[in-house]
Amino acid sequence: MHMIAIVKDSATQDQLDHFVKWIEDRGFRTNVSRGENETVVGIIGDTTRIDPFLLESMDIIDQVRRVSEPFKKANRKFHPEDTVIDCGYGVKIGGGNFQVIAGPCSVEGDNLIEIARAVKAAGATMLRGGAYKPRTSPYAYQGMGEKGLDLLMAAGRELEMPVVTEIMDARDVPLFLEKGVNVMQIGARNAQNFTLLKEVGRTDVPILLKRGMSGTIDELLMAAEYIMSEGNEKVILCERGIRTFETRTRNTFDVNAIPVLHNLSHLPVVGDPSHATGYTRYVRPAAYAACAAGADGLEIEVHNSPADAWSDGAQALTPPQFADAMKRIALIREAILADLGDE
Ligand code: PEP
Ligand code: MN
Repeated sequence: MHMIAIVKDSATQDQLDHFVKWIEDRGFRTNVSRGENETVVGIIGDTTRIDPFLLESMDIIDQVRRVSEPFKKANRKFHPEDTVIDCGYGVKIGGGNFQVIAGPCSVEGDNLIEIARAVKAAGATMLRGGAYKPRTSPYAYQGMGEKGLDLLMAAGRELEMPVVTEIMDARDVPLFLEKGVNVMQIGARNAQNFTLLKEVGRTDVPILLKRGMSGTIDELLMAAEYIMSEGNEKVILCERGIRTFETRTRNTFDVNAIPVLHNLSHLPVVGDPSHATGYTRYVRPAAYAACAAGADGLEIEVHNSPADAWSDGAQALTPPQFADAMKRIALIREAILADLGDE
């Protein structure tokens, strides 16, 4: 049974029969249970095609509930083991493999390789940097484009680090494939760009999928489902903070989402404490929280000179700050994985 409809007390037998026929005419089986206080109609079949709001808008219907989640490929119920994704250069994420993705918000030029060497020395295993930047203002820096991809790929090759970089436009997929981008990032602003999700779903490149700014956990999983339903099952989920009434931080880090996503899905989950907090001073504490909550990895913005960064300087860690964070993250990993012999 995939969906249940609770029928109002006031419904007549005629109205109920009419409702049941309406459902069955659409190819579903039903199971009507008349209780003392309420009548429940179980709707059996692939109810993903039914709009629950349409049913709820019917006069005799009180409430409609889905009994099973609308996501399938991302669902842990149908795939109990953790998914492990190979991101290139033997770097695997998920199922106990923990990776740190670090680098500047934007690729700016020659400082990229300097930052990349520093994050690698501190223990980062993947390199990030934006060549195509989704900016709130069209007058703000938009990224270096193809030249930025070239700088990233050269740095990745030198350091043998997979490159994670954002793709904003479905038309850029061939370019990203040609350059050999290791992991394509779908940014928060594109978390419901279904055309883009489907297009990257037709590749076999791992995808780092960020949660939308106002997206629920279920919406994030449905976005993953869009990618996976096209054939690409290599999706890494990313909690990067959500928009709330709070104004003291750029976003509100939903640390809860990390164990919730692990419970609902087999896909790896990464935390992004940089966009989640927006201020350098809060990035490390939030990174530790994500790590302690069981994240499979972190994505952290690092810049050699944050005051001069072309984007997101306010939330960048310097290389020494990042190196300090990496040592503490290793200790937190040890603490949460320690076998204490009880339980
Ligand atoms: C980024 O990673 O630089 C970025 C733009 O992230 P988000 O989409 O989470 O805002
Ligand atoms: Mn950024």
